[in-house]
Amino acid sequence: MRKALIVIVFTHLLNILHAQKDLDMFPKPHPWRGNNQFLNYVLKKYPIADTIYFKIPLTFWIYTDKNGFGPGPVQIKQQIKMLNKFFNQYNHTGLYFYVAKINFVKNRRHLTMGYFFENFFTTTKYHIPGTVNIHLVRNIKIFSKNNNIGGTYNSLTQALIITTSNFPTGLAHEMGHYFGLLHPHRNWNRGKLFAESVSRTRTVPLSHKRNCEVRGDYLCDTQAQPDLSLFCDENCNYIGHITDPWHQPYHPDTDNIMSYFKNKHCRKHFTRMQIAVMLYNVTINQYAKFWRNIPQNNKFFPDKYEPDNYPQIATLLLPEQEQYHNFNCLPTGKETLFDTQDFFKINFVKKGLTFIKISKAKNLFPQLKLTIYDNFLVPIFTRYITDPTIIKLPDLEPNIYYIKIQQINRPKTCNLYDYKIKLTVY
Ligand SMILES: [Zn+2]
Repeated sequence: MRKALIVIVFTHLLNILHAQKDLDMFPKPHPWRGNNQFLNYVLKKYPIADTIYFKIPLTFWIYTDKNGFGPGPVQIKQQIKMLNKFFNQYNHTGLYFYVAKINFVKNRRHLTMGYFFENFFTTTKYHIPGTVNIHLVRNIKIFSKNNNIGGTYNSLTQALIITTSNFPTGLAHEMGHYFGLLHPHRNWNRGKLFAESVSRTRTVPLSHKRNCEVRGDYLCDTQAQPDLSLFCDENCNYIGHITDPWHQPYHPDTDNIMSYFKNKHCRKHFTRMQIAVMLYNVTINQYAKFWRNIPQNNKFFPDKYEPDNYPQIATLLLPEQEQYHNFNCLPTGKETLFDTQDFFKINFVKKGLTFIKISKAKNLFPQLKLTIYDNFLVPIFTRYITDPTIIKLPDLEPNIYYIKIQQINRPKTCNLYDYKIKLTVY
């Protein structure tokens, strides 16, 4: 059984190797294929506006060598910021992403991820359901070579693999695949039978369907285009003088996130229909009920400072500026994930009396353990907190310190715990 599966998988892998860099072996159904009108109905439900309809949890798997070297939480925080820029600022997709969990896998072998078997088995082994799983590696190699593959989406295990060389648009591109988008240049060089035409009104033989609805990425609002990594310069200008198989010259947009470019900074834009495809695929996801941005789901969503579970990505705590923090939970099918700690960074410039005020917020007040660390992460002070309180800190020399606030004795039920924190220096 397992042998048969491996043979099937391998055959599929070889078939798609020349076609594209993403492992789109088991493509999702495309109800808009031949019927783009379908997507207008989707957009009636989710008008494109500055509204967040879904908040989608991400699980990161970071592969490091045994000393911990490799991509780290700082890069994840930057990546999430960029991802939300593409999905909310440059494009109003209605999708917002947050980090549910960061896992470290100390295994140098996976730092350079093999494109075939290693990809398949690793992303099967390391997987948290109910979240989008993203594997952060240094390189992806095909056979023994390090090919310049920035990222890949494995549609079989539904995992994203991103390399550090593929920052900053790689994650947005692979996320597009995760939510059902295809490359606009798909099959561009495979002749009249398979290619998308520049003309938006051309129909395919023996059917009344428009060519642009059944070829390429099946979307008529993304223009027909060749692989732009071959026909665009570093400044994102189209420099191809080529035609489609019907001899019409291409006039592609050169900023689509799902296109290929030499310069990945060219990618900025999703079209209206691309957004509709993603919204449709989120809606049919079995976990969508946990992702909907509605008040009942607030217990699943982290506060605005997250992720801040590690000192490298601690939240800066400035005097007299009160911050709201929560410990959210997340059902993932098998188990429930809990956010259990926040890291803060404080920067004392002069000696003085220092207080930390922990007060009640809107929801359940958590039992806490507060630890202060010096600049070398050596713990120097600990206090348990069961009620809102003001803590006088020990005399501290001017320097940088870290505070860890950890939730303890948490019941395994999915409730929202939160608190407010304020630093006062006299
Ligand atoms: Zn791709």
